[in-house]
Amino acid sequence: MRQALLIAAVDPSVGGVLVFGDRGTGKSTAIRGLAALLPPMRAVAGCPYACDPARPGDLCHRCRDHAGGLETHIVPVPVVDLPLGATEDRVVGALDLERALTQGQKAFEPGLLARANRGFLYIDEVNLLDDHLVDLLLDVAASGVNTVEREGLSIRHPARFVLVGSGNPEEGELRPQLLDRFGLAVEVTTPTDLPTRIDVVRRRDAYERDPAAFRAAYAEADRAIRDTLTQARAHLPSLTVPDATLEAAARLCLALGTDGLRGELTLMRTARALAALEGAETIGLDHLARIAPASLRHRLRRNPLDESGSTARVTRAVAEVLAP
Ligand SMILES: [Zn+2]
Repeated sequence: MRQALLIAAVDPSVGGVLVFGDRGTGKSTAIRGLAALLPPMRAVAGCPYACDPARPGDLCHRCRDHAGGLETHIVPVPVVDLPLGATEDRVVGALDLERALTQGQKAFEPGLLARANRGFLYIDEVNLLDDHLVDLLLDVAASGVNTVEREGLSIRHPARFVLVGSGNPEEGELRPQLLDRFGLAVEVTTPTDLPTRIDVVRRRDAYERDPAAFRAAYAEADRAIRDTLTQARAHLPSLTVPDATLEAAARLCLALGTDGLRGELTLMRTARALAALEGAETIGLDHLARIAPASLRHRLRRNPLDESGSTARVTRAVAEVLAP
């Protein structure tokens, strides 16, 4: 799960991250903890979408009108929580009723998608969210633009974010059509070894007793991860995917019978981001093998003749296809 989140932080184009697993395994804690690890970003001051001054093509209307004289500042990367009960208005934004009633103006009140621009949008229990809303979120995440047409409003604003959803599969499944639109899917299970369990409990207790001291104790480790992310982002554009790696990715998807080509695309982007994180000079079969389960396990069709789990099927295909 940590690796998947870091990969998405290096290259948001890998698509969203789906985290499925047991309750009480720290899924939400890990995602919220990500906020402190992300290198801060430069944004247009006063813009509700925190537009990126370095990408003129992605500016909102207001920033485009003032291009040239934009004031900027450094802000943290947003990690926005989307609560389960959130209405569509709250998510996409809506007519600012107060201004409409008191001043007779049609103004747009930005929603959670506006706040999540250039960051992460997190939904706990994504499997319990209305399918229609999940669909909408995946659409916006893929296009990077939120379009609102209602109550006489017509607004388009930048909304580039990584969608992170977590859930417990015992409480409901996501439709297969939605599953396959997440870039990565990871499984979190309750640790079964004694030292890990004791370590988790001890750290949790230490945090609750003195949050400030706990943060201070990990500040150096946090900074190391932040530096790694910064270096990986700088390194990413110089990495090219060798033909042999692309061919192996395609063979893997063929062997598993994944629908469409999203599997290969995700494998390629994810392997590249992993290589960047590790400071590797090239993308090898080893990178591919390591990220294949997270990239492919949610794209498999049910095979009535093969009752083994999807992770086991991917692992087996990796062993067969990538064998030296
Ligand atoms: Zn703007």
